[in-house]
Amino acid sequence: MKKNKVNSLYIHIPFCESICDYCDFTKLQYFRIFAIPYLKRLKEELEVVASNKEVKTIYVGGGTPTSLDDDLFLELLQMIKPYTTKVQEYTFECNPESLSLNKVKMMKSNGVNRISIGVESTDDKILKSINRHHTFNDVKNAVTLLKENGIDNINLDLILGLPNVSEKMLEKDIKNILSLNPNHISCYSLTVHEHTVFFLNEILPPTEEFAYEAYKKVDEILKKNGYLHYEVSNWAKPGYQSEHNLTYWRNEEYYGVGLGASGYIDDTRYKNTTNLNEYLKGNNEKETEIVGLKDLEEYQIMLNLRTIEGLDLTLFKNLFNKDLYKNKKEAIDSYVRSGHLLLENNKIIPTFEGMMILDKIVLDFID
Ligand code: SF4
Repeated sequence: MKKNKVNSLYIHIPFCESICDYCDFTKLQYFRIFAIPYLKRLKEELEVVASNKEVKTIYVGGGTPTSLDDDLFLELLQMIKPYTTKVQEYTFECNPESLSLNKVKMMKSNGVNRISIGVESTDDKILKSINRHHTFNDVKNAVTLLKENGIDNINLDLILGLPNVSEKMLEKDIKNILSLNPNHISCYSLTVHEHTVFFLNEILPPTEEFAYEAYKKVDEILKKNGYLHYEVSNWAKPGYQSEHNLTYWRNEEYYGVGLGASGYIDDTRYKNTTNLNEYLKGNNEKETEIVGLKDLEEYQIMLNLRTIEGLDLTLFKNLFNKDLYKNKKEAIDSYVRSGHLLLENNKIIPTFEGMMILDKIVLDFID
């Protein structure tokens, strides 16, 4: 199948100043002696993997990229520089406590134009209880610092369903987040993964009912304030949807480099090793999945239905030579009648209610 060239690049920096109790990402405590060889190895990988230097989106995530010392942070930015000639959206993930004026200036002068901040909760007691080392005041200061230095495209992340967060506290969280006027807000429902402190402490994830009510509350408030619910867990002011993340949901290919990073190139989805020693030695044993036509079709359904761009039936027919509407007419019509899906301009678009039961809908659409 003829493919577009790869237009998005994800770079993983696995270091954090401290480890949060719920975290299941590929991350390690920051030590300079590990970060130095890591950046060297990352540069080598980047040069081999990312053959198209003219990518449109770059996302540097983690871990906490801003946990690097200033000289190493600059080294990272300089390593990425050759890939920024055509970049439209260039995001760095930051934690409020490690975002200094110096780092903001370095990012600004190297073309970074979007920042994603892990806020998670705006209640200082809750933050402390999950081993986050910032306060809501740090978040306010970080946002001010960014805006004063010319980076005003900001995403703030919240976690829904943390222990001891009542509905009233959730409303307060949203109100606090809105007071900072970000362009983009992500809200993820807590999942409790094995090997996390939450798991060991037998913390339970929110029930489906709780998660549904929390998303509904968030959606109500954010909609009233002009945000568009464009993906299951993401809201944006019009025009500020994350182009990088839309690459994933459009089922398009992207480069992924760094410890534990995932990528999708040449019909193959892969995940890098999560073993730092092996990665540093250059033994990047990847898990790979060759995406055949059938898998591609399933990914297309599963990912496209996450956003309000929806699943384009004309495109689907061109790609797979299949009339999905004809094949799944009964299911589609039934979800349209129940208000879970819309059928507009030959596209299937999930409503809020549809996004809340997406797994079920997807199963009904896959043979
Ligand atoms: S800062 Fe982010 S990546 Fe690091 S431990 Fe906390 S949640 Fe995980």
